[in-house]
Formats: sequence, structure tokens, C-alpha cells
Amino acid sequence: MKFNQGAGRPLRDNARALYACAAVIGLAVFVIDAFTPLDIAIAVLYVVVVLLVASTGSRPAAVAAAWTCVVLTLFAFVLSHDEHYSGGAVARCAVSLLAIVTTSVLALRNQANTATLREQLQLLDLTHDAIVAYDMNDRITFWNQGAEELYGWTAQQALGQPIHELTQTRAAISLDEIRDEVLRVGRWHGELERVRKDGETVAISSRWALWRDRNGKPRAILATNNDITLRKRMEGELRRQQEELRATIDAIPGMVWSSSPDGRLSYINRRWSEFGVTVAEDSGDIWRSIVHPDDLPATEAAWQSAVTTGASFENVARIRRRDGVYRWMHIGAEPLRDAAGKILRWYGVNTDIEERKRAEQALERSEAFLSDAQRLSRTGSIATRFPGGEMWWSEEAYRIFDYPEDAEPGIDLILARTHPDDLALAREAYEQAMAGEPYIDTGLRLLMPDGSVKHVHYVAHIAAPQSGNIEYVGALMDVTERVVAQEALDRSTAELAHTTRVTMLGELAASIAHEVTQPLAAIVTAGDAASRWLNRPQPELCEAAQSINQMIRDAKRATDIIRQIRAMAQKRDPSHAVFDLNAIVRESVELVRRELDGERVEVETAYELPALEVCADRVQLQQVIINLVLNGVQAMTGVAGRARRLRIRTQRFDGRHAQVIVEDSGTGISEENLGRLFNAFFTTKKDGMGMGLSICRSIVEMHGGRIWAESKQGEGAVMQFILPLDGDTCDGR
Ligand code: ADP
Repeated sequence: MKFNQGAGRPLRDNARALYACAAVIGLAVFVIDAFTPLDIAIAVLYVVVVLLVASTGSRPAAVAAAWTCVVLTLFAFVLSHDEHYSGGAVARCAVSLLAIVTTSVLALRNQANTATLREQLQLLDLTHDAIVAYDMNDRITFWNQGAEELYGWTAQQALGQPIHELTQTRAAISLDEIRDEVLRVGRWHGELERVRKDGETVAISSRWALWRDRNGKPRAILATNNDITLRKRMEGELRRQQEELRATIDAIPGMVWSSSPDGRLSYINRRWSEFGVTVAEDSGDIWRSIVHPDDLPATEAAWQSAVTTGASFENVARIRRRDGVYRWMHIGAEPLRDAAGKILRWYGVNTDIEERKRAEQALERSEAFLSDAQRLSRTGSIATRFPGGEMWWSEEAYRIFDYPEDAEPGIDLILARTHPDDLALAREAYEQAMAGEPYIDTGLRLLMPDGSVKHVHYVAHIAAPQSGNIEYVGALMDVTERVVAQEALDRSTAELAHTTRVTMLGELAASIAHEVTQPLAAIVTAGDAASRWLNRPQPELCEAAQSINQMIRDAKRATDIIRQIRAMAQKRDPSHAVFDLNAIVRESVELVRRELDGERVEVETAYELPALEVCADRVQLQQVIINLVLNGVQAMTGVAGRARRLRIRTQRFDGRHAQVIVEDSGTGISEENLGRLFNAFFTTKKDGMGMGLSICRSIVEMHGGRIWAESKQGEGAVMQFILPLDGDTCDGR
């Protein structure tokens, strides 16, 4: 057992010496008492023996020493006296025994008290607190085990040392101020910084209490100290973590918040300041003041539903910034519940989605543009990824292939629509794509379920060759109209070329014959005359020369005529412009008025009002109308017994076409001929060429229209054609 207090330093460490000393003293007293004739109460000195033994702290030893001393006193008395005891000797012996007994009793009591005190001091050692007492000069008078452990000095080293110098005490306020407070109120509590024996600085929570003596004089200070270094470090770490967390939350690109269950904001991060909201603000109606009025009902409804069901809150609304500009935000929040499931708090974040929203709108718009453009241009998109061959079709692609939009796109669907004659082409293009050909370009015919044929042109290129998978992005164009128009054009061109050749040949021959015959005849006449003048017995050279000059003039005229005819035969390009259809029909009828009147044909006209505008080459259109009118006139020539009536009408055919109808009361057309009427060189006339209607069809189709014939049995024929009304696309406009 070990005591740290200086006063309690155990004597038992040198107990043996004490026992030896006590034994020597006891023996000396006994010898003197027993064998010397001194008439003094020398046995009183046995109390020294008792005190020495008692001071070792051993109660049995003290009791034994007391008894031994008593026995030795009595024994010495017996030895030193014969049977005649003097009254003085007895009295001295009694005094000695009394002294020994009294001293022993007191020593044992003192020993018991000391033991109690020691136990109490041991209790102080049990505490983890460092307990230190020091006098009013700051000299350490008590230093428990806790203090040893905390500061590193043993009690032996610390006792008597000035506490503040030893531990280099530092405090937020000066030590004098602390001392003043202790003297004034008797207590002080605060934090100190001290340096341990090993040089390490420790943070201490210290409680001081002042002890005054009975007279009220300050005698000592008792300080209880706790090491709070770790706590302080943890507090610091906690603070640092909190600050870091706050900085992190502030750095989040969103408005982070927490609120009470009813939506009152209790925490907001720094980003809210951009929206003019600070945490100090009474957040009662904050949502009402920052959410766009148009978005408020939906937001409130979503909030109510989240509060009622306890589910996550999610909404998109415009939130007003400090500068008054609203920005689209995604508001999301999660509830925090207690063990019973009651919502304690909401944690949320508002994320700015303005850019995303704009991008979405732009995307929607461009998708709409694309879809419209695809529809108007009849161009679909097809994306194909290899090696799997997965496909994506645009709406227009579905429309071109005539499949419902829920059909799973794929090469099988395309092959199912491909014209049997073009299947090999389609497969070849697909194989090229599978082989990674950078550019695919193919034209195909599609055979649609209704039996119609569509012409499509497909071009594609590799869009993302770097992404591992080969992906083609391609355009599928419905070029049916163009191909049909082109075919019609090719046909007309071929027929026209043929007709032109034939017509020009005939006309040229006639013109040359007509125009050149006369100068040639004149040349022959002049030649005859010249010959006659020269064949006279007296040749008239002057006259002959005149005739020869005449011949030269006539020959030159013939040359000029031929040049003119050639110039007239130059090809003229059709020129389109917007015309009033009624006017063209009227002009055409006037041009053939002489023939109509000559054949006594009754003409009835009916014109659509307001006038219909068509985009056309005026001369070509007149050619068509004149042709139809003259055919009608010719068909009525051989008809007797009924009026020769020609009815010419213009009318609106449908929303997009104008119609011209030429109806006669002629022979009519047989069922058999009706189908080949428009073929080149088909004629039933003796001197006919069979080119008129063929040219008419070419012209009408070149104008984007259609021509056909109907025949009323035995009553005549109805020849009619339609032309597109749309003058907007006319070149000449
Ligand atoms: P052609 O100039 O040789 O008559 P067209 O091409 O003008 O050639 O006409 C071809 C044929 O169509 C004519 O020979 C005639 O038999 C028939 N045809 C054309 N118009 C009429 C009509 N109005 N009534 C009856 N037959 C017609």
C-alpha cells in the first residue's frame, strides 16, 4: 500500500528498524529498572517503546508491545525488590503501568484514526480525477494518483512544488483573476492548458474550491482536474466536419433545404440567397412567394399528397430569383420519420432544370420540324445497328412502308414490301451494310398491299463507326411522283421528238415545196428566156444578161426562203406562267372559229367563276384545246340527223384541280378504241396521223394533270383533262 500524501508517508517501510530500536530501548529500560538501585519510575520510558511500535501502524504489534512492557515492568519490580515493598516503589510501579496502559490505549486509538484517514485518502486515489491541493503560496500539499497519471510527476516529485510553474498553467483569463474569483466566491470552474512532465500539452477542465480555517482565513485550494484533450480534439474535429459538410451542401448546385412537417423552412443552403431567401426569414409562406402563381396549385396539390401519403415529394415548378426571373426547378424531398412513422422533418433539394427544359423544348420543336419536313418531303429516316440489325424508323418511314407504328421495324418488314423484281437489290444493299460499306445508295420499288407500286430511294452512311457497333443513319425518300412524272416526261419527250420530226419533215417539205416552187419556176422561165435571146441569129446579149440576173435574184430568194424556214423550225422551250384557264379556252375557241363556223357547229361554253388559275405554257395548252375541239368537229362531220353541238366547259374538279371538258355530238368512240385513243399513231382516219391525242396527253401530264375520254354510246364523246390549280409553285410567277 502506498500513500501519496507527504504526512502519511508510511513508517512501516522502516518498521524493522523501529522494532529493533524499540527492542533496544525496552531492554535498556528493563536492565536499568531491574538491576540498578535508582529510585525513579524508569519504567515510564516503556511508553517510548509502545509509541515506536505503534508508529509502524501494526495494531497487533502495538498490543503485544504494550503487554510486553507491562510484563517487563512487573517483572523488574519483582526482581528489584525483596518481600518488603516500600510504598514509594509500589507507587512508582503503578505510575509506570498507568503511563504504559494510557499511552497504549491512546496510541491504538490514534492508529485506528490514522487507518480511517488512510482509507479515506485511498478513496481519493480511486477516482480518475486528478486531485491536487495547494496552499495559498501555490505549493502542492496533496497529489493523488489521478494527478500522477494526468501530469506524469509522482507525488514525491510534485509535493512542495509551485503548481502553476510545475505545470506551466495557461488559461483564457489571467491566473490572478482566477485567484481573485476563488477568494471572492470560494469556487472557480474553467478550462486550463497545462504541460505534462513528458512535454505534451493537455487541456484540463478544472474545478477549484477554497478551504478556510476556523477563523475564516484562506488556507488551501483543492482542485479537481479532468483531461479534456480528447474531448476538445473531438469537438474540433466535429466542428471541422460540420463546417466541411456545410461547405459541401453550399457547393451543391441546387437549393438544399429542410423543413418542419408543415413545410416551414428550418435550414437552407447558400444558394437560396440567389433567390432572395435567407434562413433568418420567417419561412411561413415562402413557397407561395417564390413559386410561379401558375405552378402553385399543382405544387400545393403534390405537397398535400406527399404529406398525406408520407411518400417522397416531387414536382417541377418555376421559382422566382431575386432579379424577378423565374427558372424551372425540380423540387424533390424525402421525409424523416420517428420510430412510430410520424414525419419529423422534410429534407429537400431544388435543382435548376432551366437549361434542360429549354433543351427539351428545342428538341420537341426540332422533332416537330423534322417530322413536318419528313412528311412534306416524303422522306423517312431509318437507323440500323449491326451486327444485330436492330432498326429505328421515323413516322414517315412507317407511312412510306404503310405499316402501323407499333410494328417492330426490321429488314423482314422491308423485304415483305419490296417488289419481287427488286428483292435481290434490297438484299444486296443490306449485305453491303452488314459488311460495313461506308455509303449505301439504292433505288427500289415497293409493292404495296393495295397493288400500287411505290418508288423509293434509300441513302445511308455509317454514323458512329467508332462506337464498336456499326450504326447506319439513312434517309428513305418516296420518289414515286418524281419517277412517274419523269416516266411521263420521257414518254412525251420521245413521242414529241418523233412527232416533231415527222411534222417538221412534212411541214418543211410542204413549205419548201410551196415557197421554193415559185422562185424555181421563175428561174426556169428566166432561163428559157435567156436561152431564146442567145439562140437568135443576132443574139441579144443585153436581154440575155437581164434574164440571167433575174435567175440569180430568184435563186437568192429561194435560198432566203429556205433560211427563213429553218429559222422558224428552231426549237422553242416551253415557258410556264399563271394563266386564267377561262381566258385560254376562250382564245383557243376563237382561233378555230372559222372551222367551227364552216362546219356549222353550235358552240356552247360555260366558264367557272371566279376564274381558275393554272400554271401552264399558254401555247401548249391552246394546242391541246384546239386539238380536242377539232377532233370533236371532225367526229361530227359525218353525223346527220342531229344538231352538231360542241359544249365546252371549265370547272373545279376537286380542291386542287381545274377541269376542261369538250363534249361533242359526233360518232362517239367504241369501247375497243377507248383504251388506245391516246397511243401515238393510233388513228381511224384515212389521212390521220394518230399523233394529236398522244401529244395532248404528254402536254397535260407534263403540266401535272391527267387526260381521259368518255363516250356516250352513239351520242358523241366527252374529252376532258384536269390541271393542278396550285399557281404558287409556278416558275413564271
Ligand atoms: P388523228 O389526228 O389521226 O385523228 P388523234 O390522236 O387526234 O389522231 O385521234 C386518234 C383517234 O381518236 C382518231 O382517229 C379518232 O378515231 C379518235 N377520236 C379522237 N377524238 C374523237 C372524238 N371527239 N370523237 C370520236 N373519236 C375521236
